[in-house]
Amino acid sequence: MNTASVEEKRELLEKIRLGCLECKKCALSQSRTNVVFGTGNPGAKLMFVGEAPGEQEDLSGTPFVGRAGQLLDRYLEAVDIPRSDVYIANILKCRPPKNRDPLPAEEDMCIDWLRGQVKTIRPKIIVCLGRISAMRLISPDYKITQQHGQWVEKGGFLMTAVYHPAALLRDPRRKGEMLDDMKKIAARYFESPEEGSAKE
Ligand code: URA
Repeated sequence: MNTASVEEKRELLEKIRLGCLECKKCALSQSRTNVVFGTGNPGAKLMFVGEAPGEQEDLSGTPFVGRAGQLLDRYLEAVDIPRSDVYIANILKCRPPKNRDPLPAEEDMCIDWLRGQVKTIRPKIIVCLGRISAMRLISPDYKITQQHGQWVEKGGFLMTAVYHPAALLRDPRRKGEMLDDMKKIAARYFESPEEGSAKE
């Protein structure tokens, strides 16, 4: 059990981040402008995990700051969760060229950074943003169109997946389903600790 204080978690995350900045395990390290480690509250109860940085994220070093990130911000506002209360990271810490899907080998080489983040923060809830993250963190055969919004308990975390905000920009018809999922996530987020077990 991780009983570290928020300050201790912040320090631990900073140590992991400094290691990540030096990472040259895969070829994406050659083309990156910045490592996009993750941002937010080290004591977060709720963590979002996306796929990989895009152009704006690569340029700024911060996840979800481009158009998809701005849409995510609007959903967080809609359910009254301040972005500064949550933690946001990606499966890959470096941008794949032309935003192509991460290669399985890149995910394998990068996943320990995310493991370190999750083990340090120990959020109550982990939300996968999109199919790639859900297939990596929930189940390799995850079907985002059928399973989004469903809860699973895994490794002591309450987990779910929602549509990737970039997918919603391409297909706005799914925005209603996304809002419903975000409301369910907010309900779990705001409930008291005793109510925290996985249930559908
Ligand atoms: N898409 C992602 O999956 N992550 C980001 O940080 C930005 C866009």
